[in-house]
Amino acid sequence: MNSREPAEPRIAFETRITLFALAAGAPAVAATLSLLWTSSQTARWQWTLSAAILICWIGFALAARNRLIRPLQTLSNLLSALHEGDFSIRLRGSKRGDALDDVFREANTLSDTLHAQRLGAVEATALLRTVMAEIDVAVFTFDDEARLRLVNRAGEQLLASAPEALLGRTAAEIGLAEFFEGSPHRTSERAFPGGSGRWGIRVSTFREDGRPHRLLVIEDLTRALREEELQAWKRLVRVLGHELNNSLAPIRSIAGSLAKLVERDPLAEDWRDDTLRGLNVIESRSESLTRFLESYARLAKLPPPRIGTVEVAQWIRHATLLENRAPIDVAAGPELKIPGDGDQLEQLLINLLANAAEASAESGGRVELSWHIHGPWLEVSVRDEGPGIANPANLFVPFFTTKPRGSGIGLVLCRQIAEGHGGGLTLENRVDRAGAEAVLRIPAARR
Ligand code: ADP
Repeated sequence: MNSREPAEPRIAFETRITLFALAAGAPAVAATLSLLWTSSQTARWQWTLSAAILICWIGFALAARNRLIRPLQTLSNLLSALHEGDFSIRLRGSKRGDALDDVFREANTLSDTLHAQRLGAVEATALLRTVMAEIDVAVFTFDDEARLRLVNRAGEQLLASAPEALLGRTAAEIGLAEFFEGSPHRTSERAFPGGSGRWGIRVSTFREDGRPHRLLVIEDLTRALREEELQAWKRLVRVLGHELNNSLAPIRSIAGSLAKLVERDPLAEDWRDDTLRGLNVIESRSESLTRFLESYARLAKLPPPRIGTVEVAQWIRHATLLENRAPIDVAAGPELKIPGDGDQLEQLLINLLANAAEASAESGGRVELSWHIHGPWLEVSVRDEGPGIANPANLFVPFFTTKPRGSGIGLVLCRQIAEGHGGGLTLENRVDRAGAEAVLRIPAARR
């Protein structure tokens, strides 16, 4: 039995078992002894037999006690070994299928299960430790007194301190207390001893040993933002280069040909026509460049929305009146007013309808427009019956266009406007038939 158990109940139990065993044999012993002592046997014979009976009686009672107590002690040894984390002990019953063997087998299975669980927990902890050490996100945990209980390598680097100097100190002492106030998910511009920049902050709570703890995760966003910026610049330079080259290459080559034409002596007969044709091309290419630069300026200079009140049905009616390249079916939704910049939202819808009408006009199809409330959002859906989207990855890349006279900024502007209003815009192929569906999401109420 477990050594920490009080001694009294153990003795009491063992004594009780011995007394029960003695009690079981007592009537028979008493009857045999009374028969023996009332018989006509010699006193010597009576004494010898009585001693033998008593020795057997007590001996068997003690043997029965041992039979019961010993397996219990073995079981107790196994349990205390499990308690100490030793899973090597196996129990073997005397006979397969008897009650003791069943108990021993169940105890062995329990030992195997605990062993497997302990191994799993050890492996999971080791994995967690490795992940914590390797990730470049700083992780801190604080107990209910706001004292630091755990910090990973990135956290030590962020605070430029060794773990011994940090553990046990309060969040205020190590300069992290401010993150526990305000929103648990936010970004923050901040200088730490180990680096400065833009950080993503996440705070959550968990319980350990029944006490509340807090987990603080600080992620460096600067690098990710720089990567994104770099990608955007690369895209922009690629598109700008492409556009400029499209206009400048023909201008240069035509200017060269015209120079040769007017240098000729005598001048060719049709020099006037050729010169005019060349100048026309130069003019049209220059106009296209100007258009391109204007659209670039529009994209770069989009002001923040001036939020007023927009009556949804009226806004949609205005925008649809301006588009006549394909028939537009409006499935009216609820009458409501939303907070928004009327001009920007009108521009947005005009762009979406223009794209949808151009796409539908290709196949002689129609455009469907509908709106409804979905949770906190007003959702406006514009479906067309055009060819659908060939290259979804590039749709929102500035200046990406598949149209000969397209600018490639319509969708980017639309998304910027939607996001400026706290909403979003998606454009995907329809699942029910060929065509595309744009879904605009705008908060239906002021937040
Ligand atoms: P633009 O219309 O000037 O090309 P946009 O930014 O509005 O510029 O659109 C970019 C590209 O996205 C288009 O050239 C076209 O390839 C694709 N696109 C936009 N809307 C649709 C649509 N409804 N169906 C199919 N393709 C579309």
